[in-house]
Amino acid sequence: MTTLHIQTPLISHAPLSAAQGRDVLLKMESLQPSGSFKLRGIGLMCQRAVAGGATHIVCPSGGNAGFAAAVAGVALGVRTTIVVPETTAPSVRARIAAIGATLVVHGGVWDEANLEALRLCSEPGAIYVPPFDHADLWDGNATLIDEAVAQADAPFDAVICSVGGGGLLCGVLEGLHRNGLKHVPVVAVETEGAASFTESVRAGRLVTLPAITSIATTLGAKTVAQAALDWSAKHEIACVTVTDAQAVAACLALADDMRTLVEPACGAALAVVYENLPTVRRFKRPLVVVCGGIGVDLAKLAGWKSRFGL
Ligand SMILES: *Cc1c(COP(=O)(O)O)cnc(C)c1O
Repeated sequence: MTTLHIQTPLISHAPLSAAQGRDVLLKMESLQPSGSFKLRGIGLMCQRAVAGGATHIVCPSGGNAGFAAAVAGVALGVRTTIVVPETTAPSVRARIAAIGATLVVHGGVWDEANLEALRLCSEPGAIYVPPFDHADLWDGNATLIDEAVAQADAPFDAVICSVGGGGLLCGVLEGLHRNGLKHVPVVAVETEGAASFTESVRAGRLVTLPAITSIATTLGAKTVAQAALDWSAKHEIACVTVTDAQAVAACLALADDMRTLVEPACGAALAVVYENLPTVRRFKRPLVVVCGGIGVDLAKLAGWKSRFGL
């Protein structure tokens, strides 16, 4: 079975590597057809579901998950419905509709859109695609580590990735373990105001944030997957929180250095190496997951730049 995602480049960040005297590696998930790593997990989940007889893919997300589900469903040639709340920007609606998925606008907030998605999934043949909490998603996301292991000329000594609901993190950890890399530490990065994973690890139980106050809305899961928290007892994971300003500064730096636009959700992980934060100073070959995201363009980046006085 061929995959819906592509193999992305693993490249060295030459200017940053030279400046820091180490090799900073970038796994370029921003180049996926869906603009983010999400096609790996969501693509695999949809493929398995269709192979098992599913005829209708339903995903409640106006973000990168919804876009990846739209790309996957259209590629698989099945009915694909993306359910979004009324607050979803016209540009996002247009983008989902343009690739041939059915867009349903329902409710004022995500919870209402989600209820509608669940209702649609009560019909036979329909499958519900969640954004981060499913074993198929972790299995698919883990392929980015399978690839990186095969691509690297020398082993990386840490993986740095951002955390929303923890689907990427679970995939990275599954990938490390299935490639015999249990000893490679992971740096889990969130922004202030979206740090549900850090809070949960600190408390030793799932913590639900009262609200998301970061501009990195892609990282805005109020509660992470239980599986992500469970990993923190089985693997060395360092939690790091950066500010929105640091995340945006890293997006700007990446654009200048590597000519690549990414969301602040991805800038968060990049900020940790750009700022050489204490947690990552000891690593000689850190691998940063450039998770990407479609919620960015030059105008948005310029807006955040002036808002944070950068
Ligand atoms: C989904 C996403 C994340 C967070 O992934 P989780 O699996 O929710 O932790 C980070 N960055 C981008 C660009 C994403 O699309």
